Amino acid sequence: MANKRIFLSLSQQSGWEQEYVQQALETHWITSGGPNVDAFEEGLENYFGNEKFVTALNSGTSAIHLALILLGVKAGDEVICQSLTFSASANPILYQGATPVFVDSESDTGNICPTALAAAIEDRIAKGKKPKAIIAVHLYGMPYKVQEIHSIAAKYEIPIIEDAAEALGSSYKGRSCGTLGTLGVLSFNGNKMITTSAGGALLSDSKVLKEKAIFYATQSREATVHYEHRQIGYNYRMSNICAGIGLGQLKVLDANITKRRENHLFYKSLFETIEAAELFEVPHADFISNYWLNTILVKTNTEKKRSREALRLAFEKANIESRPFWKPMHLQPVFSDYPYYGKKVAEDLFEKGLCLPSGSHLTEEDKNRIKEVIVDFFK
Ligand SMILES: *Cc1c(COP(=O)(O)O)cnc(C)c1O
Repeated sequence: MANKRIFLSLSQQSGWEQEYVQQALETHWITSGGPNVDAFEEGLENYFGNEKFVTALNSGTSAIHLALILLGVKAGDEVICQSLTFSASANPILYQGATPVFVDSESDTGNICPTALAAAIEDRIAKGKKPKAIIAVHLYGMPYKVQEIHSIAAKYEIPIIEDAAEALGSSYKGRSCGTLGTLGVLSFNGNKMITTSAGGALLSDSKVLKEKAIFYATQSREATVHYEHRQIGYNYRMSNICAGIGLGQLKVLDANITKRRENHLFYKSLFETIEAAELFEVPHADFISNYWLNTILVKTNTEKKRSREALRLAFEKANIESRPFWKPMHLQPVFSDYPYYGKKVAEDLFEKGLCLPSGSHLTEEDKNRIKEVIVDFFK
């Protein structure tokens, strides 16, 4: 194909990544942990106004797993999880031998539905088990209904694991996503707001929790010269090489957020006149999305051969990547045995939802090609 491929979400480099990686190599800090890791954590802590303690890990998935461990989730416990999300939100529940309880979305933000959440908690308590934690997700950068969800969590005294893997740079009522829950999770996977190639972070409220997270992430080694272990540990610490990339990436974080929000304005003006599709936008001024990915719902029209999949194929024909919404967890074969609360909102979003190219690198030329496909498809 003559046209170069437009990807869904490519990372943008600052040029500093190589310097920090080079330094790590030259000083033989080629291991997990090290000066780049400390500096990366400090950089993130500064970004969050030094409100939180940040533990850098080798993935967002590890961060969710450690969050469950820090909250004392054990085999046989139940953990509530937003159904419409990436599988990494839910998998660690099973690593702990706990049971996921999936909850539907509401249609304003696509995130966990307050009504379904309250119903799920009530019913699980009635059945004899109070859920140990709630995993709520800011999907595609869109904040969930923080006030409603957190007041339900507070009422039943259930801690929140805030999955902000896609929401670095988003905020709710002026407060950064990632800092709102009992524990917060970030991801620096290849296509997230910033990348360390692979990486993640856990945000907590105290130095004690940060040190505990590091303890578990480095094989639960007791403070002895011989390696003494009283608990099962994990190899979850971020590598000093990856953190070097992260330090370079911190320099473009603000620029990436600005760029992604500009991409949103491009889509907003494009879809203003298109009735057959609906662009996801923040429901209220309290919500600020980084618009990590711009998402639309395509109204199915069999006569005009319009569907989410038809649009995806039209993009593909033009060598442009787009992607269906995450398939809800309660519809996944691997999770089919677990309880689900709600109606069919998540299912409906999955059927109609498409993620559009939204990278921090999108050029004017890319936008023109994207526009051409969309205008032609909906004409
Ligand atoms: C990317 C992602 C994660 C996990 O992050 P990794 O760093 O890939 O392990 C968790 N939750 C959501 C919603 C994500 O998009």
